[in-house]
Amino acid sequence: ADGVDPGAVDAWIEAKLLESDPALDAALAANEAGGLPAIDVAPVQGKLLHLLARIAGARRILEIGTLGGYSTIWLARALPPEGRLVTLELEPHHATVAEANLARAGVADRCAIRVGPAADSLAALQEEAQAPFDLVFIDADKEGNVAYLRAALVLSRPGTVIVVDNVVRAGGVLDPASDDPRIIGTRALYDAVAAEPRLSATALQTIGAKPWDGFLIALVTG
Ligand code: SAM
Repeated sequence: ADGVDPGAVDAWIEAKLLESDPALDAALAANEAGGLPAIDVAPVQGKLLHLLARIAGARRILEIGTLGGYSTIWLARALPPEGRLVTLELEPHHATVAEANLARAGVADRCAIRVGPAADSLAALQEEAQAPFDLVFIDADKEGNVAYLRAALVLSRPGTVIVVDNVVRAGGVLDPASDDPRIIGTRALYDAVAAEPRLSATALQTIGAKPWDGFLIALVTG
């Protein structure tokens, strides 16, 4: 319909299909109070991540880019009681806000926040040789996307689901001459995924409560 705001459609979908969760609302309020940028996933996207984790039967989840833990809560809520989630965050203040949000949501027991550059945390995870992750959500600095994808593959098994946020950037991803490092990083991600025989992938454009962007969803096949 003409003149309908995509944000209003998101609100309508939320009202129809999303359970109310005071902990998620409180997390967004705490993020705002703490001065964090409002660059969390939209509620309908959080529910998508949650459903993907449940569909995959995820018991171990890795998130790269915590912010205040909004997407972390959605993902952690998909875990069985013995499930574990590791989330990586560069900014100590973001991690502090996230810690309180995860505790308020009752999921702190199954979540660990590692503070520092994701590249370092990912290297440490590889050295620790833990069990592979069942789902990886990549949502940090977009310049790091290819390195994060490669690390995610090392930390995966056949059947692992890898999701990457912000892969459309209001169509900016079509511009091969862009000097925006986020677009360069995102275009390089598509090339890396396309060239990787162990991945089967697609990307979906998203718009609604948040500006026009997209999710890349990949399955590790071998
Ligand atoms: N996933 C979160 C959500 O939906 O609620 C949003 C994450 S936000 C888009 C990106 C986060 O990645 C920010 O908190 C930022 O500080 C963090 N970040 C940026 N560069 C990073 C790096 N090199 N290593 C780890 N985290 C990084």
